[in-house]
Amino acid sequence: MTSDHAILRGIRDSSLKNVAQKVLNGQRLNIEDGLLLYTTNDLSSLGSLANHVRLRKHGLKTFYVHSRRLSYTNICYTHCQFCAFQAKPGDPRAYVLTAEDIIKDLSSDVNKGVRELHMVAGHYPKLKIDYFEDLFIKIKQKFPDIHLKVFTMVEMDYYARVSGISIEEFLDRCIAAGLESCPGGGAEIFDEEIRQKICIGKKDAEIWLNNARICHKKGLKTNCTMLYGHIEKPLHKIDHLNRLRTLQDETNGFLAYIPLAYQIEDNELGRTYPIRETTGYADLREIAVARLFLDNIPHIKAYWVMITEGLAQVALSFGANDLDGTIIQEEIAHNAGAKTPQMLTKQRLQDLISSAGYIPSERDHLYREYAQPSAAI
Ligand code: SF4
Repeated sequence: MTSDHAILRGIRDSSLKNVAQKVLNGQRLNIEDGLLLYTTNDLSSLGSLANHVRLRKHGLKTFYVHSRRLSYTNICYTHCQFCAFQAKPGDPRAYVLTAEDIIKDLSSDVNKGVRELHMVAGHYPKLKIDYFEDLFIKIKQKFPDIHLKVFTMVEMDYYARVSGISIEEFLDRCIAAGLESCPGGGAEIFDEEIRQKICIGKKDAEIWLNNARICHKKGLKTNCTMLYGHIEKPLHKIDHLNRLRTLQDETNGFLAYIPLAYQIEDNELGRTYPIRETTGYADLREIAVARLFLDNIPHIKAYWVMITEGLAQVALSFGANDLDGTIIQEEIAHNAGAKTPQMLTKQRLQDLISSAGYIPSERDHLYREYAQPSAAI
């Protein structure tokens, strides 16, 4: 690990020195520090500080999971301006999958050895709690070793409401049927003014955070995210990260944070505002700021689907310690223009990690390492 002295000596932007010293001392950064991280042009210093923290927390170990993405419906009655995945009823693209459809799909060769099923989908009022109970029970009967990671915090809110039951009862029944953890989407940007412009109609920050709190109290671990690269400003991002950090202090239920780069194609937001694709510079900054500011969230993911596999590999030296996974058949980002492949093989992930000088490790949802790697693909 580079010495503290060498890190301090390499800092070009002198206004970062104080923040750097706090990082090296293991002190928490405040909002002003966070804003400085978002406004400096000294990206290499951010990277070196974030990498220092990453090595302190995880050494060279870098995780990935063998995972499958699946959306049980793309029909959605909520209208997020950034979303190219949603379809309205009657749209020729609209679909709803039955438990049998999903089991048939999971039985195909491409899913061999998959450890985790990550499901998020649209908000469709015809699906109620009995649909999810039936789905989870049938999947677990057929694939008892596949971990079920399902529902954003807003999705569970929607389906509890249309089922006419409390969020607590909805979760209890889903957990009894096989739900094991939740992904971190739906957070977008917590600032209400920005939210009104990018996802009007979506439940607000308090509901997202409170549902995460309820999940954590029930023992369901979750991830957390932020959608960046659209019309937000640094203050909105630090406010967002600060709210996540505050909840984590209370519950310790977040496993990983994933910065999500906005994809500009085929959605209203990209047509309304003069937004350009995020740059590599901006993507690396998000990873580094996250590692430095979110001192209590264990893992930072570089989501290769949105930022490309090459940049995700570089992000391992900017604070990220998780390349997410094989991510078989992701639809949501690809519908919005992500140019990345539909999946990566485990071998490719291992190569990306080891050729960057880190040590690959296949994990489960709780970041436990598998003694035996899953079937090679
Ligand atoms: S992001 Fe989710 S909730 Fe929003 S429109 Fe798309 S599918 Fe619906």
